[in-house]
Amino acid sequence: MEGAIGFLKGFLAMYQDERFFLVGVCSTLLSVGAFLAFALPWTWVAYKNPESLRRYRVQGRDFPIKHWFWPSLGRLAINSLLSFLGLVLAWPLMRHLSGIHMGALPPWYVMVAQIAFFIVLDDFLYYWMHRALHTPWLYKHVHSVHHRITIPFALTGNYMHAVEFVATSTLVLIGPSLVGAHVVTLWAWIIFRQFEAADGHCGYDVPWNPGLLVPFYKGSAYHDFHHRRFFGNYAGFFSYLDKLFGGTYSKGYEEYRRAHQHGASVESKPQPQPQPQPQPEP
Ligand SMILES: [Zn+2]
Ligand SMILES: [Zn+2]
Repeated sequence: MEGAIGFLKGFLAMYQDERFFLVGVCSTLLSVGAFLAFALPWTWVAYKNPESLRRYRVQGRDFPIKHWFWPSLGRLAINSLLSFLGLVLAWPLMRHLSGIHMGALPPWYVMVAQIAFFIVLDDFLYYWMHRALHTPWLYKHVHSVHHRITIPFALTGNYMHAVEFVATSTLVLIGPSLVGAHVVTLWAWIIFRQFEAADGHCGYDVPWNPGLLVPFYKGSAYHDFHHRRFFGNYAGFFSYLDKLFGGTYSKGYEEYRRAHQHGASVESKPQPQPQPQPQPEP
């Protein structure tokens, strides 16, 4: 009996560790808060659909805000909770394997270099996971949930099956765990990753998008085309992976990009789009 109580005390002590509070609890709350901070203003813009921004709309069809607003918030809440529970279960292993620490803060340039590495690594891993999600079984049972959204707006960025959400969250932690990042670097990376999620779904391809300061990022139209066409544009952030691994651009994306150079005063008049049907990749 005493042995069992001792084991239980030792088990619970793992969760009284400050590192669990900072890496597990704070990161989860920060992740939800950052996503809402980026996604809600863009969702409000999509709801208002102001005349001045219509020229930057990627698709000409109305945003289905009323249909997907509450389901998107509900999925975000449930998925974040399940993801946190997964982290609780994985913590006994993760506390040993992950190098994420709370020691001395590294110089700013080390943090910037690490975050640049996380962006590239996460994008590479996400590209291959996303291609796997488009194989028939995974598409039908998991990824089709995210593809219910054919006209994305920012809040739909985390509308997905819980399995996909947990897998995506796991990819985000791989880079920081590998390099042994400081917890503050992890938080900065999570904030940026949620910017990616909201920006890729915002529906507006504006030339003043701060994300365009990141070299090689092409803006929200890239992932928007994935929702519109169902196939192609599999990378999460950069477009080079689709060029490198078999030219997997969505139909019409390259023509769109040639016609809409950022910063140019090109009038992008909304075009009526045919309603595509969701299908698994053959
Ligand atoms: Zn997809
Ligand atoms: Zn998406």
